[in-house]
Amino acid sequence: AELNSSFKKVQHLVPMLSLGNTFTKEDVENYINKTKRFLQIDSNSNLEFLAEPKIDGLSATLIYKNGKLDLGATRGDGKQGENITENIKSIKEIPHYLVGKYPREIEIRGEIYMSNSEFEKLNSIRVAQSLPVFANPRNAAAGSVRQLDSQITASRKLGFFAYNWGFVSENIGGTLVEVRELIKSLGFNLNHPVELCSNLDQMVGFYNKIYENRSNLDFDIDGIVYKLNDISYYDRLGSTDHSPRYAISHKFPAELGITTLKDVKFQVGRTGAITPVAELVPLTIGGVRIKRASLHNKDEIKRLGIVIGDTVSVKRAGDVIPQIVNYNPKLRPAKYKNIIFPEKCPSCNNYLQFEKEDKIIRCLNHANCKEQIIGQLIHFVSRNAFNIDGLGEKQIIELYNNNLIKEPADIFSLALPNENSKHVLIINLPGWGKLSLSNLIDSINNSKKQTIEKVLYALGIRHLGIGTAKLISKNFKTSKELINRILNINDDNKEYFAQDLKLIKNLYNFGKY
Ligand code: AMP
Ligand code: ZN
Repeated sequence: AELNSSFKKVQHLVPMLSLGNTFTKEDVENYINKTKRFLQIDSNSNLEFLAEPKIDGLSATLIYKNGKLDLGATRGDGKQGENITENIKSIKEIPHYLVGKYPREIEIRGEIYMSNSEFEKLNSIRVAQSLPVFANPRNAAAGSVRQLDSQITASRKLGFFAYNWGFVSENIGGTLVEVRELIKSLGFNLNHPVELCSNLDQMVGFYNKIYENRSNLDFDIDGIVYKLNDISYYDRLGSTDHSPRYAISHKFPAELGITTLKDVKFQVGRTGAITPVAELVPLTIGGVRIKRASLHNKDEIKRLGIVIGDTVSVKRAGDVIPQIVNYNPKLRPAKYKNIIFPEKCPSCNNYLQFEKEDKIIRCLNHANCKEQIIGQLIHFVSRNAFNIDGLGEKQIIELYNNNLIKEPADIFSLALPNENSKHVLIINLPGWGKLSLSNLIDSINNSKKQTIEKVLYALGIRHLGIGTAKLISKNFKTSKELINRILNINDDNKEYFAQDLKLIKNLYNFGKY
């Protein structure tokens, strides 16, 4: 991450270097041979390397004095980083105090990262709040750490893998394996899995094994790092301006695919936000079938300069959301189509509102826009909301299309014993039967005991994610109390959220939670 003037600068005691890169087995072999020559080791004898995953996060250094965390800093340009101590303290996996037998002063280095599952959770919350999404877990981790408000960092679940050290006041071991054990004993998580290798084949074997199974890891890695196990070689080998000679990275190939941009569709989210989505001629990248890619907003399309018909490179960024990287100008067809943003909502045909220099485009017809209503219903039953089992996206759309639910309150009416005609209709829908209906009624009834925060989140109010819902709900004893309070709000903007209020009132009058 580049330097931000808002953070105090920190001069690193020991520079935080980058790593040399290799891409092929041959490159790795050359590196091993060069290292042996440098150390005057016989080319036929073995040299031990520890092979570790190269974590795709944000490197950080942590200085502990007398066992207490004194300073946390980013790498910056390698010589000078940023003081991010306050933010770092909110990361659970970074101990404030070392445990066990620690040196008087030790600098622990490693990678701050966001797990893939946490990343997806964060982005889905951001979508719900109409905020721009992060492109990949690394950006999300970097964005979270470099927040001026450490509360925000604390709200994002970040992890830390220790894999290196800087300045240390005393000798901490003769081999990398020993030092890792020590670092672990001080209270850190080590990057894993690792393998101690004694030859090229073993190293590349580990690389291939991890590459093939990387989707099983809940964190992104962009390669393998091979490091000499014998630390006494480190000083002898020294470093270039850019990287140390005791280690080398073996990078994974970037996961790119080439395809054609068939069309751009405009999706209507549950808050009315319109997002462009690229429709691609389907392709497979890294074993995953891809038909669509996110285009975020108008700016992103302008930046890419793409038109419909272009041949585009698609990347699976951070192994998660597919993205368009660029297009090939030489292959642009004579008959192409510009991407034109609609003036009217693709779902309800109402005129759209453009906000924040066109970054957010919204349909304000919340009450009558089918896609919004369906989105809202799906949100209402989702896991962080009422969490109604057996009622997913597919079922909601089906029930909506059959006029069985039009708004959240209708979901509860489905469970009433006197709704016989509705029950008959449901049982006769494809894929439904008596048993699935009775299960659905049970889960609707169970969901009525939902916690206040989930009830609040379920209402789908803009800018009210699950985190905010938790904070607000602390001030109320029951959901009823909370809803009462919302309905009695005296606010000049009442008209603005009249629709929200109407839905809440319907739910409330229903009196079922
Ligand atoms: P690069 O950014 O591609 O030049 O690679 C160097 C960076 O890789 C270092 O600055 C570290 O932040 C990062 N890194 C991730 N995992 C490791 C690891 N296991 N060992 C050393 N560096 C790592
Ligand atoms: Zn609409």
